Amino acid sequence: MKIGLFFGSFNPIHVGHLIIAQSALNETELQEIWFMVSPQNPFKKKASLLGEVDRLRMVEMAVEGNFKLRASNFEFFLEKPSYTIDTLTALRERYPKHEFSIIMGEDNLQHFSKWKNYEAILNYYKVYVYPRLGSDGSSFDQYPQVIQFNMPFLDISATRIRELLAAKKSVRYLVPDAVWKYLDEQNFYAN
Ligand code: ATP
Repeated sequence: MKIGLFFGSFNPIHVGHLIIAQSALNETELQEIWFMVSPQNPFKKKASLLGEVDRLRMVEMAVEGNFKLRASNFEFFLEKPSYTIDTLTALRERYPKHEFSIIMGEDNLQHFSKWKNYEAILNYYKVYVYPRLGSDGSSFDQYPQVIQFNMPFLDISATRIRELLAAKKSVRYLVPDAVWKYLDEQNFYAN
């Protein structure tokens, strides 16, 4: 199975993330997308970052009923901080039959040379790249392993969602319904 890994803090997950995943399924040969929820880094506690279990729970709610999307807590059990190359190696050991690729935004690709062992990532894995508003390509665009796919530009971010919640405004339709209800019940990001 060809699996696309979508790494993020998902603090919280929103429809932008889901549209990226669906676009990847529509536009590439990927057969499943796994949302790799980033764990809490014990050395870098950020007040605005909700606990990993709550973030994972919301990703699970968001993907429920779509068997091509999966919420993964795989990185919770790896050494922290988790570097993508180490996660990829551990995934390959755990799931030897799957073929893993990475999905990332064009903005992240511009900083790719700062990633641990980025050459190894490019040697062994495909990187599927989606466009980001305000980003105009990177030097990695020329690599055969780097494959662009299209998705609509969406001006939605988790930061904006947290701001709306802190201001007691509604985030309905910016997040899936189940997540909207859960955020409300739990009073997350309300300050
Ligand atoms: P934050 O606002 O807290 O930084 P985020 O909404 O960017 O969060 P992340 O959890 O960092 O969400 O998401 C993982 C990836 O999804 C990021 O690399 C980010 O580039 C991408 N992403 C999030 N929202 C959008 C969007 N509206 N369009 C394209 N890419 C997006």
